[in-house]
Amino acid sequence: MKKIIQEQFDVLVIGGGPAGLIAAGRAAQKGARVALVEKNDRYGIKLLMTGNGRCNITQDASDMFEFVKAYKNGRFLLNAFNRMSPKNLRDFFRGRGVETKVEKNGKVYPVSDQGKDVLDSLYQYCRENMVTFFNTEEVIDIIKEENKITKIITKKKEISAEKYILATGGKSYPQTGSNGKAFDWLEKLGHKIVEPVPSLVPILIKEQAIKDAQGLSAHNVSVVAMQAGKKIVTSSGDLMFAHYGLSGPLALNLSRDLRKKIAKGEIKLLLDLKPQLSFEKVDEIIRNDFEKNGHKNLSNCLADFASPKMLDLIFALSEIDTHKHASNLSKQDRLKVVSLFKKMEVTVEGLFGFEKAMVTSGGVSVKEIDSKTMQSKIVKNLYFAGEVVDVDGPTGGYNLQVCWATGYVAGESSVLR
Ligand SMILES: Cc1cc2nc3c(=O)[nH]c(=O)nc-3n(C[C@H](O)[C@H](O)[C@H](O)COP(=O)(O)OP(=O)(O)OC[C@H]3O[C@@H](n4cnc5c(N)ncnc54)[C@H](O)[C@@H]3O)c2cc1C
Repeated sequence: MKKIIQEQFDVLVIGGGPAGLIAAGRAAQKGARVALVEKNDRYGIKLLMTGNGRCNITQDASDMFEFVKAYKNGRFLLNAFNRMSPKNLRDFFRGRGVETKVEKNGKVYPVSDQGKDVLDSLYQYCRENMVTFFNTEEVIDIIKEENKITKIITKKKEISAEKYILATGGKSYPQTGSNGKAFDWLEKLGHKIVEPVPSLVPILIKEQAIKDAQGLSAHNVSVVAMQAGKKIVTSSGDLMFAHYGLSGPLALNLSRDLRKKIAKGEIKLLLDLKPQLSFEKVDEIIRNDFEKNGHKNLSNCLADFASPKMLDLIFALSEIDTHKHASNLSKQDRLKVVSLFKKMEVTVEGLFGFEKAMVTSGGVSVKEIDSKTMQSKIVKNLYFAGEVVDVDGPTGGYNLQVCWATGYVAGESSVLR
């Protein structure tokens, strides 16, 4: 027998991630009686994992027209970002005692480097505005009558409200709570769901030498992805080598484009580990080094030019005997080394799935959501916030920015009569 919660709420938020927490807090701050329903015993489990625990909360961007271009369905986000821009967000957190700082590539973090401070301040925002928390309550169904939601059903309770905000996330890292089941109810409610696919995933690489280079990080690498002899994508950024292949911002961002192409045939990546130097310049540096250190083994050369781990990788791929003295190296071998710095060819074996995806691409079609209010155009008293919507961006704080802005707007507009 389910316990029926008689108390009538104005707004009921489903999902206690960043989008749900800010939506609940904002609606309550505007005077609504708000309930927040979360299936885990804790809120913001995924939020605590963001930025390796440091929480890259947003991107330092000021021109919203330019900023939204980095997103899938970016134009849809313009209204929400104008209401809660990265600057407004930093002011919001500053006002709640969380100072932020800008790091390399415009990534914004709390000064404390603690994602927990961000989560605590959001939780406090909800508490001081009297949000009622229902945790360990998994919503299993949503009941609609005459184009309005009348109640939600959890495993133990039935709870009703005037308005509902859906902030259940996507399908990525399902162990954190976001398993995509909400997409089934939403289809039942009449919403179109754009097929969810994993986005921002590491790339599996065939060559063993790449896997053996695990732990190597290479900064400012350029990459050209080729398929059937044609350039399909170019990108640049920081790259990490792992036991399965490639990760780091460059690989994660690249995976957004590769996902669409991978079924069409083999993809090769041409990595330029020294994009700021021409082929000729790299050759000159290597030639000079080999001349200076001619009496040394190859493995003891180029120490000023690349890290030991990077050199191990280059020499492993070159298949040159590193016991050879540098002076004994043929021109052909030297050019092979230069080519590996400038055009290292690796083969894509596959992409990780939802279990390792930072975000989900796909979700509730933006055509069915009013971008000014985040209100459903299909179900009268339903609003959306966060990753459940069919918008996603690259790494660097872009995806949390979606959660804050859409959550804030959904919370605010759900209170308007
Ligand atoms: C490892 C990792 C690192 C990341 N780092 C960054 C970063 O540094 N910067 C950045 O911008 N983005 C980052 N992201 C992406 C970012 O974390 C997500 O975009 C964001 O958490 C989405 O927020 P959300 O509130 O929409 O959904 P979620 O955070 O997924 O929260 C959804 C909540 O809804 C709950 N829920 C789901 N179904 C139900 C149900 N049926 N009943 C009740 N509750 C339910 C879930 O338990 C969960 O708590 C990272 C993601 C990962 C996985």
